[in-house]
Amino acid sequence: MGHGAGDELLAIVGTRLLNATRGCDTVARLGGDEFAVLLEHVRGEADAVIVADRIVHALSDPITLPSGASVRVGTSIGIARVSPADGVDELLRNADVAMYAAKGASRGGYAFFDPSMHAALVDRVSLESDLRDALDDGSFWLAYQPIIALESHEVLGIEALLRWNHPTRGNLAPAQFIDLAEETGLILPIGRWVLREACARTAEWNAQRGDGRAFSVTVNLSVRQLESSSLLADVQAALAESGLLPSLLVLEITENALMHRTESTVERLHELKGIGVRLAIDDFGTGYSSLSYLQQFPVDILKIDRAFTDGLMRGTHDDALTRTIIALGDLLTLRTIAEGVEHARQHSRLRDLGCDYGQGYLFSRPLAPRDMEVLLTRGFLEIPGEAPIVLRAENSERAEDSERAGAAAASPDGGGARAASALEAIAPPPAAEAGGRVAPRGDEDAEPPMAAARGARRRGVGGERR
Ligand code: C2E
Ligand code: MG
Ligand code: MG
Repeated sequence: MGHGAGDELLAIVGTRLLNATRGCDTVARLGGDEFAVLLEHVRGEADAVIVADRIVHALSDPITLPSGASVRVGTSIGIARVSPADGVDELLRNADVAMYAAKGASRGGYAFFDPSMHAALVDRVSLESDLRDALDDGSFWLAYQPIIALESHEVLGIEALLRWNHPTRGNLAPAQFIDLAEETGLILPIGRWVLREACARTAEWNAQRGDGRAFSVTVNLSVRQLESSSLLADVQAALAESGLLPSLLVLEITENALMHRTESTVERLHELKGIGVRLAIDDFGTGYSSLSYLQQFPVDILKIDRAFTDGLMRGTHDDALTRTIIALGDLLTLRTIAEGVEHARQHSRLRDLGCDYGQGYLFSRPLAPRDMEVLLTRGFLEIPGEAPIVLRAENSERAEDSERAGAAAASPDGGGARAASALEAIAPPPAAEAGGRVAPRGDEDAEPPMAAARGARRRGVGGERR
């Protein structure tokens, strides 16, 4: 939209605001696309709500510009009350803070100012500034969660899950910063880093395996990345730098993200598919009511959302949904991976239903890179009541010097063979011998069914972040 059209749009919005308010009220444009409305003689919040609703309604109809173009505008309204202690600046600032809260509530509409909103905004601004520094500081790291074949128990791949070792807030999970990264566009450089790091690490681990077999690695993509014209080049660069085969990279897109598809994103997915990368739909079954999009996308894998795996513990209804998704995968010749497998009963039920793969705390929590290396060298996962899962990796070097090995393990990027040999030199701690499971480092609340992690913990390496 050009400047002229922008001005026309603002003028029409101003007129609609005037029409939605009374003669005694004041309407002003503050700048950009922000307006202020001063309501006088209101009896309380209820009156303010009536006017807010009227404004939202007035702006919800499409606006036809003199050129004939039709545009829709979104409206977020922050409402603040005049208080004797506050001046004009405070009043406007409070309304502004409330407006951001209304925007964040995604359904738009309005929000009343509350002092806690101010604290939340300050918090957000400081997190955003830290996020800008995080890539340069090297404070992001990736946890890896094994994906196993439910039938053979073999670990076939790993999913890379982003973590942020924040300087004061500690280890943060994606839920605490991914939305902010998306909103600020920082997800693009972060996502590029995730791709390169995950591909490089996986290629390294595959090279360490002596059995000629290889893990695939799964990387989550956000909508912004999917919309970015540099995605294909980023993926190609990550593959070229690491030497990872394209077929060993799986890109995951949530079902919700696919709702934002445009012609160019669909084309981008086809281009990615064209270079041999595989595509998966994450959180399948939660996002979208029409299945027709499955035919448009060149997908290979459906990841059944955890909600359905949970349902397997409850009984018939959810069981039916899970069965349907697996059958759909079968019909469309897509692989199915069940997310969030936590109980042996879910594992056996999924296997009976013909689900190919599973991922979840029953098999392993997401692991810090050093623990992945331990898993690689150790070569198995323990599942209560099940035969061990075999990795078929060659057991490499043994420890010559446990101090040296310990030092290697203590560095985030310590070599896999050395980190692992430290573990071999150490006996499991009493808790583990008593049958207790011990958390590996890296995932805060981790409790992996993995014997190899015990030694790392014992060495004092286990509590470290990264
Ligand atoms: P997701 O891709 O569906 O990943 C699975 C999430 O479920 C992970 O949470 C994982 O730790 C958790 N999980 C795995 N097994 C179990 C289980 O048995 N029980 C339960 N309760 N949870 C389990 P996490 O790591 O917090 O990631 C959350 C989401 O953040 C991911 O969901 C993904 O959508 C997003 N995400 C993670 N890494 C990245 C990234 O690098 N880029 C982007 N754009 N998004 C990412
Ligand atoms: Mg995922
Ligand atoms: Mg998921």
